[in-house]
Amino acid sequence: MNNKLIQGSTGAWEVVIGLEVHCQVLSKAKLFSGAATAFGADPNSQVSFVDAGMPGMLPVINKFCVEQAVRTGLGLKAQINLTSIFDRKNYFYADLPNGYQISQYKHPIVGEGEVLVDLPGGEVARVGIERLHLEQDAGKSIHDQHPDHSFVDLNRAGIALMEIVTRPDMRSAEEASAFLKKLRAIVRYLGTCDGNMEEGSMRADVNVSVRKPGTPFNTRCEIKNMNSMRFIVQAIDYESRRQIDVLESGGVIEQQTLLFDTKTGETRATRSKEDAQDYRYFPEPDLLPLVLDQSWVNDIAASLPELPDAKKDRYMALGLSTYDALVLVAEKETAEYFEAMLKAGVDAKAAANWLNNEYFGRLNKAGLSITEGPVSASANAEIIKMVAENVISGKIAKDVLDIVWSEGGDPRAIVEAKGLKQVTDTSAIEKAVDEVIAANPEKVEQVKLKPALAGWFVGQVMKATGGKANPGTVNALLKTRLGLPD
Ligand code: ADP
Ligand code: MG
Repeated sequence: MNNKLIQGSTGAWEVVIGLEVHCQVLSKAKLFSGAATAFGADPNSQVSFVDAGMPGMLPVINKFCVEQAVRTGLGLKAQINLTSIFDRKNYFYADLPNGYQISQYKHPIVGEGEVLVDLPGGEVARVGIERLHLEQDAGKSIHDQHPDHSFVDLNRAGIALMEIVTRPDMRSAEEASAFLKKLRAIVRYLGTCDGNMEEGSMRADVNVSVRKPGTPFNTRCEIKNMNSMRFIVQAIDYESRRQIDVLESGGVIEQQTLLFDTKTGETRATRSKEDAQDYRYFPEPDLLPLVLDQSWVNDIAASLPELPDAKKDRYMALGLSTYDALVLVAEKETAEYFEAMLKAGVDAKAAANWLNNEYFGRLNKAGLSITEGPVSASANAEIIKMVAENVISGKIAKDVLDIVWSEGGDPRAIVEAKGLKQVTDTSAIEKAVDEVIAANPEKVEQVKLKPALAGWFVGQVMKATGGKANPGTVNALLKTRLGLPD
């Protein structure tokens, strides 16, 4: 486990973290109504009578949302419960028109599962999943548009959420953040949630406690509604330090709900945490228990895409390093891009090196994602194919990439038109080698004592040929001409 202990005045402390992650289900319609779910629509333009809590309206379950939850459960290697039950979770809030949220409490649709988390250095941590349940989202209160009125936007009310609850298995802020990245990758591969934290389609309640290693868990505090990886790390670091200070000065931690203030970087109390009984859960009388067919679940299981762990293993079997494989599987789109290159017939290792060493660096620098980048997978594949075929040198390949990046075009046509083909014609290379040797008699003397200087000659010949000489030919010719050992 990734124990990163924190020093206090009474010795080392261990942080314990468990997450409750709300993932908005990717679905065109809401969980119990046909209203649309698109982000950014005009306020209250996507609200049915059911979502507005009008008297006499009845919820009707959206089968596709159920399928998405099952698919997610299978992706989390979790138990699928063929019978699950919806409950009413009662509380009052202005953006909750019914005065209750339909959720699942004692009998969630998905039970125990597991996520493997890849940590820096190749270590893998296991984070247990306790459950996944389906529930409705609430609306949104808007307090900053009028001096003495609040507004309510119900577009979000009734949208399907999957709440995914982990075991308290994480031991550092970095591990929690790596878990969230992995979870986001999994739901995005599955197509069950877009994982967009900025738009709030994925948000986490972060439970934090601290303990002396080897002792029982202490009371936790829950930091609500976090939707930025960076702030989650900051909040955990701040909160664990705060709890250590309280405990070391003889105080006790009270179970509390906290908010993270992004301006001060501190957590502060909002309300004392409700207990389950405060919500007066009872079975939703307007819905029957949700009963699934095992054969339907099996069909969904059979249709799952290849997920990041399996992909990583497959890429490593093709000869990639753990690091390269992890970079490529981290985002679904990156893996798709890489696989499009493989389909174009390039060697896996060459493609991975090229992407990691050349193309991703350019994308990062330009602040572009893989789908926004200007060079297609087939163009990148053509470039490295030309290297493998000895049509161009590795150095020219980078130049060709730069040209395709800024001007577009077909890499082979560019090489042809700009005369970038590698010179394999020995007589032309011989001429360049002889000229470099003739122009540098003192270096020729030195290289006899210091054979490593041969690299300098290679550089000069490459320069003289505009980088187009075949490096193997240059090396071989230089060795004979300079009388160097093989
Ligand atoms: P509740 O239903 O009251 O929110 P749960 O027992 O279901 O409480 O736990 C909610 C979350 O808190 C889970 O993600 C769990 O892993 C986490 N958690 C439980 N105990 C601790 C602890 N001592 N320290 C940190 N996290 C914890
Ligand atoms: Mg909870």
